Amino acid sequence: MPIHQLSQSLINKIAAGEVIERPASVVKELMENAVDAGATRIDVSVAQGGGEMIRVVDNGGGIASNELPLALASHATSKLMEADDLFRVGTLGFRGEALASIAEISRLVLRSRTPEGQGGAEIEAVGGVLGEPTPCGCPPGTMVEVHNLFFNTPVRRKFLRTTATEFGHVSEAFTRIALASPHVHFTLRHNDKPVFDLAAGSGWLERIALCFGRELAENLIWVESVDGDVSLSGYAAHPSQSRSHGRMQYFFLNGRYIRDRALQHALGEAYRGLMMVGRQPVAFMAMKMPPDMVDVNVHPTKLEVRFQDSGRLYSQLLAALRGKFLTTDLNTRVQSDTDASGGHDAAETAQLRQQLVDWAKGKVASWEQGSGDGGQGTENPSRGLTDPGRGPLELRPNRPAATGEVSGAETIHEDSTTPPPPSALQIHNRYLVTETNEGVTIIDQHALHERILFEQLRQRVAAGAVETQNLLVPEPVDLSPSEAAAALEYRDLLAELGVRVEPFGGDTILISGYPAMLANIGPTEVLRALLEPLLSEVKKPDRRDLLDELLHTIACKAAIKAGDRLAPEEIDALLGQRHLVDDAHHCPHGRPTSLVFTREELDKRFKRM
Ligand code: ADP
Ligand code: MG
Repeated sequence: MPIHQLSQSLINKIAAGEVIERPASVVKELMENAVDAGATRIDVSVAQGGGEMIRVVDNGGGIASNELPLALASHATSKLMEADDLFRVGTLGFRGEALASIAEISRLVLRSRTPEGQGGAEIEAVGGVLGEPTPCGCPPGTMVEVHNLFFNTPVRRKFLRTTATEFGHVSEAFTRIALASPHVHFTLRHNDKPVFDLAAGSGWLERIALCFGRELAENLIWVESVDGDVSLSGYAAHPSQSRSHGRMQYFFLNGRYIRDRALQHALGEAYRGLMMVGRQPVAFMAMKMPPDMVDVNVHPTKLEVRFQDSGRLYSQLLAALRGKFLTTDLNTRVQSDTDASGGHDAAETAQLRQQLVDWAKGKVASWEQGSGDGGQGTENPSRGLTDPGRGPLELRPNRPAATGEVSGAETIHEDSTTPPPPSALQIHNRYLVTETNEGVTIIDQHALHERILFEQLRQRVAAGAVETQNLLVPEPVDLSPSEAAAALEYRDLLAELGVRVEPFGGDTILISGYPAMLANIGPTEVLRALLEPLLSEVKKPDRRDLLDELLHTIACKAAIKAGDRLAPEEIDALLGQRHLVDDAHHCPHGRPTSLVFTREELDKRFKRM
């Protein structure tokens, strides 16, 4: 084939291939244009995940009627004048490719009016073929409407996933830009239903709360740092808010959402030792630096950038986070008892935990009786529970020492004249030190109890299908769009676990059936815990992984905590059940439950041998 110049239409299609991957890419480009136009209000509306229609309306500077065709032409931009401008880009866009690319692969209507203009004008493009601009009445600002995306690129169209999944991506793109520009009022609608309404001027924290929920927002730690021309500020989440994936690490550079491996690594380093292996921190960090200190022209969608001195930025972020963590008590919840509204108050949490423990004990015991009746010859994994020499593990609600409150039960324990000597010594209300034949073992009380509950529950589930209990009144749960998408996509898998979900419109999911064994934990909480691994891009979890995750959630919530003072009988009961679990040396997260110091080792250290 001889060399020939490609047609403009083909050039645009190739560019579209790079820039427009799915409906969410269109939403991103159109929103960025609106932000660049200085809009203070941007309304985004999509139909059927964006595949059918995407509309972005802004109240920004608009486009003069005679420039409308130019706006849709490729390599036409108002944001760069000369080559040097490329090295001091202050806008989100500058390549002049987005509108031309989108117009090439859809039916697009662009309507705009400048504040000075007498009236507005609109232009339509179908598959890259432009119509004539025609005058029309419209308010100052710009509206772009994109219909039937990919109608003439069937391969791309085929790669579109379900409406819910595509909308999940749209919502993520929307959130990234909304977080980057807190001074702008943004709204998002899907199929005519409101999803987000983010008013301007209520601050970054409020915006984060509206996008990701109050619980996360209440557990954020403010971090800031200035190093020369580079400033960095934002929120790092308490380790308790960790996720199984890194998608909740939001970095913004000069108002642009970016991904950067080095910064992600610095974040991980700062949290090292504060959370368990495999968990990822959550953070929202905004960085500001002079535009000439960074090259934003290295990636077609500008998701990645190149810093002049990335090592220095890495150190700055790490130092800022570490410094903050050192002066913050991360063991307590960041905002524990200030909330008097009752939603999360300590007494309620403690009561819930107690119910869980009772339930866990009761269920395991009754299952054991049941299997005994059946006369199965197989090994009975919970045989230890009937051991007459050991009392049940009696746990009382967690009572923070600071309150100074002493319950009757506790007084009796303390006044008892003949307390049995405990089989271990509790230190710092979190470790149990015990003498064994081999030497000395130090046990993490929470990790061990969690492991015991986890194994007991797993055995119970393995013994039969999980019973589903129909909820008399189905419970509506408000989820993030991507969570809602995952819930529906994995409906069958969830049903296998006894969780029945139904769409309820928007991002609300109805839970109509629920595992009977979980009656004491809020359906919302369990559903979220189940959805988290489903959202992980790395590896789709199978039923077993999900089950483990669910059981782990329950075990973790029901287990005694570090900081709980244990009565001697409780220590005995806990240690008495150690042999029940196959792998008592590790908690379900893989953290060790105990450390062993052999006698030889002690002898050696004390120079006795
Ligand atoms: P870029 O944003 O890289 O310049 P685009 O193809 O996205 O390229 O847009 C082309 C031009 O159209 C922009 O440079 C801008 O002048 C104009 N434009 C696009 N969208 C808007 C908008 N919402 N408001 C005002 N002008 C716009
Ligand atoms: Mg643009």
